[in-house]
Order: sequence, then C-alpha cells, then structure tokens
Amino acid sequence: AAKAIGRGSYLFFEPEMNARAHERHEMERDLRQALQRGELEMFYQPFVDLERMEVCGAEALMRWRHPERGLITPDRFIPIAEETGLIIEMGAWALREACAEAASWPSGIKLAVNLSPVQFTSPRLVETVCEALGDSGLAVDRLELEVTESVLLQDSQPTLAALCRLHHLGIGISMDDFGTGYSSLSYLQKFAFDKIKIDRCFLSNAQPKEAQAVIRAICGLGHALQLAVTAEGVETAEQLELVRAEGCIAAQGYYFSPPVTAEALRAMLPASGKAAHAA
Ligand code: C2E
Ligand code: MG
Ligand code: MG
Ligand code: MG
Repeated sequence: AAKAIGRGSYLFFEPEMNARAHERHEMERDLRQALQRGELEMFYQPFVDLERMEVCGAEALMRWRHPERGLITPDRFIPIAEETGLIIEMGAWALREACAEAASWPSGIKLAVNLSPVQFTSPRLVETVCEALGDSGLAVDRLELEVTESVLLQDSQPTLAALCRLHHLGIGISMDDFGTGYSSLSYLQKFAFDKIKIDRCFLSNAQPKEAQAVIRAICGLGHALQLAVTAEGVETAEQLELVRAEGCIAAQGYYFSPPVTAEALRAMLPASGKAAHAA
C-alpha cells in the first residue's frame, strides 16, 4: 500500500510529523519546568468501604496547574511524561507529596498511588518508595500501589522483582483498570495482587444487566483468589447498589466525590488524630 501511494506523499506527511515532534518537544520542556516550578499538584479521590459506608482511603491523582491553561488532567501529559522518561522524576515527586499528605490523615485511611510501567525501568524505584515512606512517617501498610497489567506485559524479571520487594515490605499492590487489557486473567497468575479495581467502563458502557453479570463474575473470581475487589467510576445510586450487592468491598466514583484538592479531601475524612495533637 505504501508503494501505491508513491514517493510524493512523503512531502505531504513531513510537515505534520515535524509539527508533532516539535509539539512533543515543547511539551517535554514545559513539563520539566512545571516540575521545577511546583506547578504539579496531587488531587485525591476518596474510596468508600461498602460495608461501613465510610471513606477508607483516597487515590492520589496528578494534576498540572498551568499558569495560563488552568488545571490539566493526566491523560494530557502522562503519556508524554512516559515517552520521555520524565515520569520517573514526576512519579518520585508524586510519591513523596502524597505520602507526606497521607501521613496527616487518620491512621485508618489508606493512600493509593499510581505507578507507570516506565517507573519500573528505574533501578531506584523501590528505594524511591521507601524514601517517600520513611521521610513522611507514613506506615508501610497504609500505602497501596496501583499498576495496570501493562506493567507485566514484557514479562520483565526486574519489574516482577520490584513488585515482589514492594509487596514483601507490606505495601498493597492493586491491579488497576481490571478487565480492559488483553488478558487480565493471566496476569493475575503472574503476581499475587492484593486488590483488583474493576475498570469503570463496565459500569458506564454496559446495560445494567450486562454490568451486573460482569461485576458478579469478577467478584466471584476475586473471592476465589482471595483478592479484594473494588469498583471504579460509580456515578449513580443504582450503580452503588449494584456493586455493593455483587460483593465489591469498596467503591470510588463521582457519586461520592470527584478527585479534589488535598485540603478538600481532609474535610471529608473523620476527625483526625492530628487535630488532637495540635491542641
Ligand atoms: P486511574 O488510576 O484509573 O484513575 C481513575 C480515573 O478515573 C481518574 O482520572 C478519575 O478522575 C477518574 N474517575 C474517577 N471516578 C470517576 C467517575 O465516577 N466517572 C468518571 N467518568 N471518571 C472517574 P484522572 O485523574 O484523569 O487520571 C487518569 C489516569 O492517569 C489514571 O487512571 C492513572 O492511570 C493516571 N494517573 C493519574 N495520576 C497519576 C500519577 O500520579 N502517576 C501515574 N503514573 N499515573 C497517574
Ligand atoms: Mg488508579
Ligand atoms: Mg483505573
Ligand atoms: Mg486508568
């Protein structure tokens, strides 16, 4: 097909490709500056224990507070950060920032932090996590790390070794966006995850009957494998009732709260031990 188009088409594609490369280059420079200038910010989205119907933790989600363009969500900059490797530095910052914040929460409240597969290419990942915990004083068992199955795609030994080391330290390891990848099921056998988070597409894109069938199946699987199953993207009371009835132990979604600033999240938590200490 390429031959049929002919040589002339090269002239057609070149400017567009240059423009894209240029844009990426600019974006990389801007992101590096954003990190240095403190324009990155962590937001937090609570997740709710469905038995007690209480907030039991929060997921840290990165935002870029751009001086002109306002608040930018991660889908717009994480891919570039991953392509350029900058995610290693940004991720280290995110871990430090989120652990420091969570250390001030009541001790029953967990912190979930996302890790990109690219962060596992850093030989310092485990130390970075340990430093964030050590410096903040956050207890190891209050941290959960979320990875998608893409982290296990290449069957990389160093990646698996890092996951195992983190797990042995007592950190919870969650499989994020469960069910959306090529073979989520086979990845459950490669590593002993503690938790699976059912991707929100199963709630949002499905008819209630289908959603129920899928969620029921995943909860059954979780039960059999002794994995905690949680639901993402709960937006309505009906969806909450569904995931609760099918056995999800926790849920997260706009029905409870969107991701909010650290300050706004603190206001959603039960009265913290910190206030008592301050008095
Ligand atoms: P994720 O880890 O699967 O995070 C959940 C995403 O779903 C968040 O998008 C959240 O705002 C959104 N969400 C939560 N509840 C609902 C809902 O009820 N309805 C809808 N429509 N959406 C909901 P966000 O914050 O834009 O983050 C997107 C992705 O970017 C995350 O997906 C995660 O993969 C990545 N990400 C975010 N922060 C970080 C970070 O610090 N490090 C790394 N490596 N990745 C991050
Ligand atoms: Mg996540
Ligand atoms: Mg997810
Ligand atoms: Mg995701």
